[in-house]
Amino acid sequence: MSNLTDTVILVIEDEPDLRAGLQHNLELEGYKVETAADGRDGLRKAKDGSASLILLDLGLPHVPGLEVLRQLREAGHETPIIIISAKGQDRDKVQGLELGADDYLTKPFGLSELTARIRAVLRRTQIGAKAGVGDKTGVGGVMHFPDLVVDWRRFSILRDGAETQLSRYEADILRMLVEHRGEVVSRQDLLRRVWGYVHLPTTRTVDNHIARLRKKVERDVEKPVHVVTVHGLGYRFESQLLKEEA
Ligand code: CA
Repeated sequence: MSNLTDTVILVIEDEPDLRAGLQHNLELEGYKVETAADGRDGLRKAKDGSASLILLDLGLPHVPGLEVLRQLREAGHETPIIIISAKGQDRDKVQGLELGADDYLTKPFGLSELTARIRAVLRRTQIGAKAGVGDKTGVGGVMHFPDLVVDWRRFSILRDGAETQLSRYEADILRMLVEHRGEVVSRQDLLRRVWGYVHLPTTRTVDNHIARLRKKVERDVEKPVHVVTVHGLGYRFESQLLKEEA
């Protein structure tokens, strides 16, 4: 709670009553609140980077919400975004999440639900930032797992005396999974960290790269033991680290 007053939430919402209500209630919760009444102003305020989190309506004048989201992620802005929208259709939700939104709330929603989602997203993204996701912290040298050796210096897999080269994407995916070994990594996390949304791929792209990665790290791709699928959630690196050489 100590740094709550440093947490700025940018509310991009065109409906005046809802915008004012969100501002009032979030300020009562101890957040600093900035507001924007249309997509163009919202994009400008989001790009100045002072917000810790953005609440983004989808139906907005000038620039629609999904376009605001797309432009922010394409420009490399990683500010966590929760979509708030009257449109409860799955297609908007899926598209928003594929474009890099962190969560989604359908109107009408209660204040307690909203603040719970805000706290959860901030916790998740701040933990991710501290863990240095995407850099080389915690992964390096040569790592030995049961029936699998990864040489990070050479971006290769060693097995049965043979060396298999990893592509850049395969190495980046494997690094993220190994950094978070034992935890589920979602396709969305992989898209954001590995591809960075510069060339927006679909989650199908992640699955295709995982399939190629498995051909290199798994002895039997039909029964993966290292990179396992967690249905509906993503992937998890399961193997225990046996030995690490610098
Ligand atoms: Ca609206």
